[in-house]
Amino acid sequence: MAGRFHLVTLGCPKNAVDSDKIAAALGADGLVPTDDVHAADIVVVNTCAFIEDARRESVDTILALADVKADDARLVVTGCMAERYGDELADALPEADAVIGFEGAGTIAGAITPVILSRRRGVAADAPVGVRDLLELPRAAPSAPWAYLKVAEGCDRACAFCAIPSFRGKQRSRTPDSIVTEARALVEGGARELVLVAQDLAWYGRDAGEVGALAPLLRRLDRELAADGLARVRLLYLYPSEVKDPLVSTMLELDTVVPYFDLSLQHAARGLLARMARWGSGDRFLDAISSIRAQAPDAAFRSSFIVGFPGETEADHDELLAFLDAAALDWAGLFPYSPEEGTAAVELDGTVPGALVAERIRECEERQTAITQAARDALCADAAALSVLVDGEADGQAVGRTHREAPEIDGVVFVEVADGDPTPAPGTIVDAVATEALGPDLYARVVAGVTR
Ligand code: SF4
Repeated sequence: MAGRFHLVTLGCPKNAVDSDKIAAALGADGLVPTDDVHAADIVVVNTCAFIEDARRESVDTILALADVKADDARLVVTGCMAERYGDELADALPEADAVIGFEGAGTIAGAITPVILSRRRGVAADAPVGVRDLLELPRAAPSAPWAYLKVAEGCDRACAFCAIPSFRGKQRSRTPDSIVTEARALVEGGARELVLVAQDLAWYGRDAGEVGALAPLLRRLDRELAADGLARVRLLYLYPSEVKDPLVSTMLELDTVVPYFDLSLQHAARGLLARMARWGSGDRFLDAISSIRAQAPDAAFRSSFIVGFPGETEADHDELLAFLDAAALDWAGLFPYSPEEGTAAVELDGTVPGALVAERIRECEERQTAITQAARDALCADAAALSVLVDGEADGQAVGRTHREAPEIDGVVFVEVADGDPTPAPGTIVDAVATEALGPDLYARVVAGVTR
């Protein structure tokens, strides 16, 4: 009988892609997925090690799964924590039968299968073992009308707060052919929106000597897949120095690329950004945003910010508040600085007390929530025309997203149809008008008979 695996994914969209590939590799090895942890022969936890909270969540999840899995089921820990802490993690977590990083020789299935076999033999598996980079593995068919597509792994930068390059390595970009092949399979499997991800997306291709390779990749996806059903391409994680032409002009020109700018800004105070070893300043960011808005008034913007980085002064904080007001981003994530072992920032002085960090985050969030709400309310006041990609159904009502909402991160749009009309199916794109805002979510009424 084929073994059954239960896969739990934590962390960011890039991890979700890895999980897709792990699932496909296990499937190719004869294992079948199960949502029921009690029924699984093998439980795989794809962990996140980004910051302390994420690590705690990963460990809590591993321990909780160890408690509820079948007694003879094997527990495998993979992902960023396995990559970053390998042996140390295996020692600290005897509940895990194997700790599997991403980089060694072999394949994920090749690494996990012995774990299952060892259970059958009643022998503990060796840990940790390594698996080769997941980038080129095939992946499972999409379970929604959208899918993440990872175009590169690793990062060439050295932001002072970030440990990712230390365990994910330097950037390795996939070839355009490899990406288009995977994109085609996803579109044929029902994906209408592809969300391109990488640690540093706009840097795509540099490691292969191809500066500015993202724009030609977008053109190729548009040219080769739009006729087959690809309706949207969305880009996540753009380092701000790269948000310029020809990338911006290409994004705004192509029908398939949504005008959604996920800018990785981190702060607005120039001096603090320099301490973070990051490019830019609030003024430069505002210039870029204004320039895009002048060309595309409907463009949507998201960013994330670190609050309480060592040395953040009251003046820096005020600068961030002023920036949030001036930029009027559609969405913003605000995160407390987390000291990460092995990063330059842990050597810096000027620790900001936790209570002050919490207070600053609260102020920023109050500001941003009001800005987000005002933008959502304005869409309803204007009865804005929306093009909604239906993702699925909630309580009998279609729910989807426009170009303004990235999946799993931003708000959603609930789609109302006239009495007696069928609920639009997942993957359908409907024209609608915004009627009501409820926090970050919108309600919209379908314009009769227009679906594609
Ligand atoms: S760009 Fe900076 S924050 Fe992003 S992954 Fe690279 S080093 Fe980390």
